Amino acid sequence: MKIAVFSSQPHDRQFLSAANEKHQHELKFLEPGLNPETVLLARGCAAVCAFVNDDLSAAVLAALPELGVRLVALRCAGFNNVDLHSAAELGLTVVRVPAYSPHSVAEHTAALILALNRKLHRAYTRVREGNLALEGLLGFDLFGKTVGIVGTGRIGTAIARILRGFGCLLLAYDVQPNPACVDLGVVYAPLRQMWACADVVTLHCPLTPQTRHLINGDAVRQMKDGVMLINTSRGGLIDTRAVIAGLKSGKIAYLGLDVYEEEEELFFQDLSNRVIQDDVFARLLTFPNVLITGHQAFFTREALANIAETTLANVSDFAAGRPLANQITADGRFG
Ligand code: NAD
Repeated sequence: MKIAVFSSQPHDRQFLSAANEKHQHELKFLEPGLNPETVLLARGCAAVCAFVNDDLSAAVLAALPELGVRLVALRCAGFNNVDLHSAAELGLTVVRVPAYSPHSVAEHTAALILALNRKLHRAYTRVREGNLALEGLLGFDLFGKTVGIVGTGRIGTAIARILRGFGCLLLAYDVQPNPACVDLGVVYAPLRQMWACADVVTLHCPLTPQTRHLINGDAVRQMKDGVMLINTSRGGLIDTRAVIAGLKSGKIAYLGLDVYEEEEELFFQDLSNRVIQDDVFARLLTFPNVLITGHQAFFTREALANIAETTLANVSDFAAGRPLANQITADGRFG
């Protein structure tokens, strides 16, 4: 099948081209993201391949069938950017890559926790400038601290396993508790209890209407003084303004983000020669106790190889009329 691969970066070309030696699809790599202005680039393709910040709203989807597109192949796990009801009405099939390496995201989450705690981002620049003083670098033992995990699916379970190794006490909240986490010693608790007890809160649930701004002013107020907040899931889980207020008051002592609610305009590009126009993001960058990465938690060799193979296997299954293990239906169900 001919596939329009939107938001193509060099690594997408590398890993998809390698996986395609087996699948033999026709890949049309397109640098622009998918949006109402660029959708016409999909003309003549039977599938569009999209990533986390591509626009798959009703308006964009509506243009696809007459261009020849029948399949939307997401090369990511989250599908909060897809209007699934419109896709179903238009007869478009949507597939995704539900699991490619939960370890990649969980390990990046652990990296953010450790770097923030031991202030590695500050120590790195200090030492390079010949400043070997310890003042300002005081951390805490992770051993014995309580970590609250929101969402205990694949990634939440992987971070629970890592943090158990550090000797943390693990609290979790999920609409569907996971027996594998209970076996790891995770204790499920209501969010209110988690906010009150957790020294570190880490988010691993999907972005849905129910979870949008899960971390708002009210939640921040209920958290422990000096809490560490980590989000490697989706930016919209956090009301960024409320979190900035929490940072200014000292309630939040550490913030680690791999995602940001307005990241579409910012991430996956080099803006180092431009003035950042997003004042909220710019404010976040001024805090010494905030560590931001640009949606790179998934970015490991293993994850990219799995993403490429599953994406193209999804397309091959669709082309051959085989059952689609990774389809997402209008009610957000899978398979
Ligand atoms: P998963 O489906 O395995 O697990 C998600 C868990 O969240 C499930 O256990 C589900 O029951 C739970 N959940 C759903 N609604 C909830 C709610 N209202 N409150 C609490 N829990 C709820 O997904 P996963 O593979 O673990 O991925 C989790 C999220 O991580 C994805 O949705 C995606 O947004 C994000 N992600 C980020 C990156 C990155 O690079 N930063 C990469 C992959 C995934």
